[in-house]
Amino acid sequence: MKILLASSEVEPFAKTGGLADVCGTLPRELRRLGHEVVVFLPAYRTVRRASVPITATDVQFAVPVGSKLVTGRLLESRLPDSDVVVYLVENEHYFDRDQLYGENGGDYSDNCERFVFFCRAVLEVIRLLDLEIDLIHANDWQTALLPAYLRCELDSTEPYENIASVLTIHNLAYQGRFWHWDMLLTGLDWKYFNWRQMEFFGQLNLLKSGIAFADAINTVSPTYALEIQTAEQGYGLEGALQHRAGVLSGILNGIDTQVWNPRVDPHLSMNYGVENWREGKAKNKATLQTQMGLRVDPKVPVIGIVGRMASQKGWSLILPVMQHWLETIDAQWVVLGTGQPEFESALASLRSAHAGKLGVSLEFSNPLAHLIEAGSDLFLMPSQYEPCGLNQMYSMAYGTVPVVRRTGGLADTVIDASETAIAQGVANGFSFNAFLPQALEQSLARAVWTYQSQPDVWAQLVENGMNADWSWGQSARQYAELYERTAVLFRAERQHV
Ligand code: ADP
Repeated sequence: MKILLASSEVEPFAKTGGLADVCGTLPRELRRLGHEVVVFLPAYRTVRRASVPITATDVQFAVPVGSKLVTGRLLESRLPDSDVVVYLVENEHYFDRDQLYGENGGDYSDNCERFVFFCRAVLEVIRLLDLEIDLIHANDWQTALLPAYLRCELDSTEPYENIASVLTIHNLAYQGRFWHWDMLLTGLDWKYFNWRQMEFFGQLNLLKSGIAFADAINTVSPTYALEIQTAEQGYGLEGALQHRAGVLSGILNGIDTQVWNPRVDPHLSMNYGVENWREGKAKNKATLQTQMGLRVDPKVPVIGIVGRMASQKGWSLILPVMQHWLETIDAQWVVLGTGQPEFESALASLRSAHAGKLGVSLEFSNPLAHLIEAGSDLFLMPSQYEPCGLNQMYSMAYGTVPVVRRTGGLADTVIDASETAIAQGVANGFSFNAFLPQALEQSLARAVWTYQSQPDVWAQLVENGMNADWSWGQSARQYAELYERTAVLFRAERQHV
């Protein structure tokens, strides 16, 4: 099959979160399985910082955006260590900006227009380059108009009429909601602006449009696929998702095991594997403690946190527990992240009060993220919701035991160290249900107690995490099956029409 994957983020070109990791790795793995894949991404200013060469092409195009005809140009690159072609859609006005989606805490006011242009450009390039695509894989709201264009506008137009579509929802909280007049920018008929398709409480909702028109939908973990069909986690789209439940599934993300592998990771002070994790982790722990200005002490448990400082990640649980523990318990904390100013400033003031016990780095630093995964004993992820989550898998691959809330992908990857799970030899972390500081604190206390007084159980947790297969191989196979299943269904439906 020939797949076109369209995304607003692809590692190593542009990244704000896990979406980029998925869209940078999945195409390479699909290629390994023998599929043809091309990737499309906007040519943001940041793409020029990528380590891979980008070349200009002579492909230029003009596409309708509302009542305007907007021109663009195509750049070309490859995913690292692969022959997967990446097409970068260039338009200086839309994409040559400091950030991907917005600045100073606000979104760019023309985000709808920017991604209408991007989707239109992808479709136009399919025709111009005669790409012979079988299936378009769209990701999140930024590319969710692609299935809508295929079904609403191009259903019987060459070369689009045989293209099936899959939409992956990486995070339902971000839906691409705009005022209703932006419907004009899409160029689609107003008849689609109804509560079953593109309209959402009077607004245009791009993710909902994709949910309505994609031939199949998936999310990034099986548990999240169920959770988003409930009122608690459906963000108002639970009805639309229930309506498509027959073609809605969950596929857990993998991790890039070339990049996230303690045996070869260049950011560590010592590389290690499951056979020498004690020595390897001790070395990296000492380096981490030194780097973060903490007391170098092999015995004290180090609790690591890496991630966006958004309420989704459970900061309202972390901060009170951290404060209490800093005052009363001999444990060290290491935090790396950027995000909401109130969380950043709360951390900064906790750090000045407890400098020797808490290390905080309010930046985006890939090397430090790797060192924290290797040098911590425990990794904290008490998310309110978590579509898949990558950091808990990174931590397990590095022998760092995760303490997580049992939701979404965290529920699908972390097996709590209950008596039964320990007896069966399958435990790999700690998890809790209630979204409450007390529940986190109890789990964390259980984890620290196990670390300090149950070395055999601790070794089981570490080694189960390190021995598990978190690679993309299995996930990519599931995506390939999803594409094939969707294409078969799509063709069958066509024949009936
Ligand atoms: P989400 O996609 O919701 O942000 P994930 O756990 O799925 O959460 O993925 C987050 C990704 O972003 C991981 O690769 C993580 O290491 C990275 N990351 C997040 N914040 C930072 C930071 N401040 N510095 C370095 N890497 C970060």
